[in-house]
Amino acid sequence: MNNTPQDKNTVSLGLTHLNQRFSDLTPVACIWIKTIINTINDSVILLDKNYTILMVNQTTLNLLGYRENELINQSIFNLLSKNIKDISDLENSFNKTRETAYLKKDGQKVEVLLLNQLIYAKNQENMAIISIAKEMSQEKRIEQLIKENESQLYYDLRHDKLTSLPNRRLFLEELEISLQKAHKNTNFSFSVLILDLDQFKLINNSYGHLMGDNLLIQIGDRLQQYIHSQDILARLGGDEFGIILNHLGNLEHTLEIVDLIKQSFSRSFQLNGYEVYSSASIGITICDFNYQRVGDILRDADAALHQAKIKDKASYTIFRQEMYFNAVNRLQLDNDLRRAIDRKEFELRYQPIVELETQKIIGFEGLIRWKHPEKGLISPAKFIPVAEETGLIVPLSNWILNEGCQQICQWQKISDSSQGLIISINLSVKQFSEKNLVEKIIKTVQNLGMNYHCLKLEITESCIIKNPEEVRSILTQLKSLGIQLSMDDFGTGYSSLSYLHYFPFDTLKIDRSFIQNMDKKNDKLRLTQTIIHLANDFGMEVIAEGIETREQWEQLKQLDCPYGQGYYFAKPLTAQEAEKVILEGNNRLMV
Ligand code: C2E
Ligand code: MG
Ligand code: MG
Repeated sequence: MNNTPQDKNTVSLGLTHLNQRFSDLTPVACIWIKTIINTINDSVILLDKNYTILMVNQTTLNLLGYRENELINQSIFNLLSKNIKDISDLENSFNKTRETAYLKKDGQKVEVLLLNQLIYAKNQENMAIISIAKEMSQEKRIEQLIKENESQLYYDLRHDKLTSLPNRRLFLEELEISLQKAHKNTNFSFSVLILDLDQFKLINNSYGHLMGDNLLIQIGDRLQQYIHSQDILARLGGDEFGIILNHLGNLEHTLEIVDLIKQSFSRSFQLNGYEVYSSASIGITICDFNYQRVGDILRDADAALHQAKIKDKASYTIFRQEMYFNAVNRLQLDNDLRRAIDRKEFELRYQPIVELETQKIIGFEGLIRWKHPEKGLISPAKFIPVAEETGLIVPLSNWILNEGCQQICQWQKISDSSQGLIISINLSVKQFSEKNLVEKIIKTVQNLGMNYHCLKLEITESCIIKNPEEVRSILTQLKSLGIQLSMDDFGTGYSSLSYLHYFPFDTLKIDRSFIQNMDKKNDKLRLTQTIIHLANDFGMEVIAEGIETREQWEQLKQLDCPYGQGYYFAKPLTAQEAEKVILEGNNRLMV
């Protein structure tokens, strides 16, 4: 604290008072006292028995902004702002440090730690009191503030700022309480629901984060309507909400609530005049005393949510024990996958695509295989979804594209008849979110000196449905280069005819589920015929997948289906096997 030069008059003023009140103190002693207290960096105030101020030090004057003559002869109570209300209160606090505040001349408060002590008590008349006040440090003030605001802080730490709902921390604490209750009372059960909004990112990206926030608040309000006072609704973070149903946490009631929640999402939300629809996937686990830890409950609800997300938008899943094992398997698979790329455990197989009339091979579809050192050959249907989830699909797809293109370039040089061979490569949905997908493809093709027309990319309907605009823009760029595009597995997804028109596909691949029952079921035959006509109308080529029998081949030829692939002609072949077919069969598959 800065000391300001002392006013000479006020020095003498304080001394005179001390001298007058305590006649047995010599003038020299009074000067000593004054000098000593002026060296102290805390506020020191000398009081008589009536708590009238006799002397103050410079620190007090600096701290409170008074001149000395404004304080001398005043009651100390004029300076105290709180906690100490009257004389008895002050006397009770002798010899104890307590927190209080002095009032400054300008009316502001200074938080201080005050210590009052009797210093001179020859008799009652001569009693004096010294008040030493230390300005409270910043930390101490914060501590004080925390104490005062403890309940507010407790609330803030356990609630989400945006929605004012309980947050993850409070959710976990409440979950622990429910679990303990279930352990004490084995008849008690409760359920836990985790809701994850579908495509919330899209809302954020299209309408902006403020609108996204607004939607979260509205969803929180809407969900609250279905929550009993004993239940907990929390925002767990991002677009995830959690519900603990303590009141009637059985399966039947839980499903009733899920139904209500689903219905509530069928109504639109108003965002700044826009009408927006949202939906949520829900993972559910019914809990009782069999659960030992809160973490296990969350793990299971998450596993159920994961399954719900895989199914479709707006679906729910109730946890089953197998999901836990699936999740463990997935994790194991993910670990192994990471190593597999480095260890070169992947292999591309090549399934011939043939002209049905002539059996001439027009190209190959590259199909990935994983030769796991312990588990043997693992099907892509098993590991591609895991690789997509973890992002490993990106490096893996780069490898596949490069490998397939390199191979076809090599085979094109074998003979005259193999010059025009085409390689079909499957694209995964995740690849469309890669920023430089088109550039990567261009680079691969150019590095190999390959003709763009000899590369065909296969895309499933599910890829398109996730992000139609973006996918269309990417496909249009690829098409403009001369790369061919194929709609894979047609008939298994949404099969919207508008897609065929909207996207620049060259080829339509009829899913094998149509082909395989075609010889037994008339309706499949008719459907296949319709699809072929449709594709012709749109100017697309058709490839029938999964041809397994001679009858299917014959039928497809009669339906004027130009191309096909399937076990009847050849299974996916190793590179050596495929090369042999090209060489020995002069690029023709005789069956
Ligand atoms: P897809 O692209 O529709 O590939 C055709 C699948 O049908 C292949 O299964 C193939 O082996 C199988 N298949 C071919 N002919 C017949 C037949 O006559 N009968 C039967 N029952 N099946 C036949 P695969 O190799 O197990 O691949 C499954 C799926 O995994 C593929 O379906 C594709 O979606 C995906 N996939 C495979 N390789 C890759 C890849 O390199 N990258 C990406 N992103 N996905 C791939
Ligand atoms: Mg395919
Ligand atoms: Mg297919």
